[in-house]
Amino acid sequence: MAKEFVNRKSAAGRKAYAKILKRIAEDSVCPFCEPNFLKYHTLPILKKGVHWIVTENMNPYKGTKTHVLFVHRGHLEDITKLSPAAAAELFKLARWIKTTRKLPGAGLFMRMGDMRYTGASVAHLHANLISGAVQDTHEPIAVTLGFKK
Ligand SMILES: [Zn+2]
Repeated sequence: MAKEFVNRKSAAGRKAYAKILKRIAEDSVCPFCEPNFLKYHTLPILKKGVHWIVTENMNPYKGTKTHVLFVHRGHLEDITKLSPAAAAELFKLARWIKTTRKLPGAGLFMRMGDMRYTGASVAHLHANLISGAVQDTHEPIAVTLGFKK
């Protein structure tokens, strides 16, 4: 069986995204490895760190005002392979987004390893930073991070 770089099930309900994931699956390349990333990703790169590329998510979760991606610059699929320097840079870049966007509150999360357990769409290690509206009368933003036992 060919290596799976993307999880097409994770696009459920997002039609345009499903189309992109289908194309990537057919190309059988990792969409987050440079230079493939620049081929599939058409939004501006906000910052290139030593270890991470920071950019807007092309397929933001419904209800987010901000949905930024941190894509590890080398192909890794698990946090167990992440260097301490890369881990430190991720938090530095997340702080940079939180500060420069003046976000009053945000969520930062990362899926890792076998995509069948996480709902990730891309195996290549990346983190998401999301922010939406104030709680008040607004519904929560739905994020799949795993599945119930
Ligand atoms: Zn990759």
